[in-house]
Amino acid sequence: MSSSPSPSELTLRRQLIATCRELERRGLNQGTSGNVSVRLSANPDDGFLLTPTALAYDVMQPEDIVHMRLDGSHSGPRPPSSEWRFHLDIMRARPDAHAIIHTHSAYSTSLACLRRGIPAFHYLIALFGGNSIRCSDYATYGTQELSNHVLQALTDRTAALMGNHGLIVLGPNLERALAMTVEAETLAMMYWRAIQVGEPVILPDDEIARVRAKIATYGSYGAEKHGTGL
Ligand code: 13P
Ligand code: ZN
Repeated sequence: MSSSPSPSELTLRRQLIATCRELERRGLNQGTSGNVSVRLSANPDDGFLLTPTALAYDVMQPEDIVHMRLDGSHSGPRPPSSEWRFHLDIMRARPDAHAIIHTHSAYSTSLACLRRGIPAFHYLIALFGGNSIRCSDYATYGTQELSNHVLQALTDRTAALMGNHGLIVLGPNLERALAMTVEAETLAMMYWRAIQVGEPVILPDDEIARVRAKIATYGSYGAEKHGTGL
């Protein structure tokens, strides 16, 4: 940690760890699988906070969190997540993404091992920006090639399955990214169950467009709660 992080940075470091532990509590990640990042501020030049590599969430402390800048440099006593490349590339390419959650959650990963993206079998696919959650090609974890595949699968989307690997979800903050990760994994579970029995009916694109417009104003928080942008 920089010698004396501001109170707001310390709060963000704690929120990052709390998000990791909540992912574990919900069975979406375990041990050291997955990783999480969050922008330090609305100013991209401030960079982002990222979980360190190979450190179990239940022992992670605020000082273990890595600060990365958009030039790819990092600071802190621990090395960043092995997936720092895709966190960095997404933070550079997607100004809408302020928090990124990567999991090896069971249903998303099972579909990803079949290279089976999630089509518009349920209207809530619209939460993720379009008529599908795509599945990326496979590449070795931690590589630039994986980052390239993931960015491509995320085009106009806020979630993607990662071939033979897991799930990635973008959000405007940690809280929403966590909520959207739960939604994505639930859709993966429902799709997995549906295809055990038959071929689900796929909703047409114009219906997904209607749903996207409608959920932008869903609930008392409107776009804040279920916005279609993120
Ligand atoms: P890290 O511990 O390096 O973040 O790796 C976990 C992971 O999920 C790799 O894809
Ligand atoms: Zn992973």
